[in-house]
Amino acid sequence: MGSHLCDRLLEQGCEVIALDNLSTGRLSHIEHLIAHPRFTLLRHDVTVALPELPLPLHEIYNLACPASPAYYLDRPVQTNLSSVLGMWRLLELARSTGARVLQASTSEAYGDPQEHPQREGYWGHVNPVGPRACYDEGKRCAEAMCVSYNSQCQVSVRIARIFNTYGPRLPAGDGRVVSNFISQALRGEPLTVFGEGTQTRSFCYVDDTVDGLMRLMASDEQGPVNIGNPGEFTVLALAQQVLDLTGSRSPLVHKALPVDDPVRRRPDIGLAERALGWRPRVDLRTGLQRTIAHLRKEVAAAPVDIKVPPEQLSRSPERRPEQPMRPELIFP
Ligand code: UDP
Repeated sequence: MGSHLCDRLLEQGCEVIALDNLSTGRLSHIEHLIAHPRFTLLRHDVTVALPELPLPLHEIYNLACPASPAYYLDRPVQTNLSSVLGMWRLLELARSTGARVLQASTSEAYGDPQEHPQREGYWGHVNPVGPRACYDEGKRCAEAMCVSYNSQCQVSVRIARIFNTYGPRLPAGDGRVVSNFISQALRGEPLTVFGEGTQTRSFCYVDDTVDGLMRLMASDEQGPVNIGNPGEFTVLALAQQVLDLTGSRSPLVHKALPVDDPVRRRPDIGLAERALGWRPRVDLRTGLQRTIAHLRKEVAAAPVDIKVPPEQLSRSPERRPEQPMRPELIFP
């Protein structure tokens, strides 16, 4: 999503400084920008003190955090810190420079929602100590911090709750369902359906999501604002669409459902429509076709390691074996 946002901002004539630790992003996604006179890439982790940046700064988009459950379940400490410490550092930067901050929050702020569709006023149903807590609670804390910096320090903040986003540059087999299914279908491997596949998601094409974020940044609405496509599909329906569009004969194989995997998810986008004049334009079929065209090249070019969450996080938490945690901690 970051590389698409950079493309759009540069098209609009902005000067862009991108900070990325490249833990889940790829250099190849911004290779075409490296020589651009208004683009700078700094390899940096937001949990570490920020480098000095050229002034003035007008807008800060905070997209820093692994978004695929397969990554964040594997690195919960770094995930938590990237949301919490990263948010703090960027809000401090905004405080000292007068820049506006847009926080890329998430539909996971609603957890496994008990209200459907999800409106921004719904407080959510999150397991604060489950395996997804590192992501969900990290993002919720980041939202709270935005509101605190706004009320105490007058920092201008915008909060977007982004629902499942997909599109070209999704790394092959990165653990997210769209990427896994397309990669598996193209390789003729079984599509890994977690649980029965009756859980639902709403998939938003990346250009639409980026458009929503930029409109929010430019608007008077602080948010939170849902940015997502209200079309709702079961995981099985998605699998079927992927098989149809790729012409693959891959079978489906059912795997254990990850702990706390939300059962239903669909945004109410009434606020985005009213306040931003935004609604998604690209339907799932068109978006999948474009994503398949991109992944076809990637799958053909290099071997793909398709990620699924570790087995111990796919059973009930009681049966989860005790494991000593030795993360590579990054202190500020
Ligand atoms: N999923 C699946 N097979 C996969 C990857 C994911 O069935 O190979 C399911 C997952 O259990 C969830 C949905 O697809 O119900 C969306 O998962 P994803 O990781 O893309 O995003 P999430 O919405 O969980 O953050």
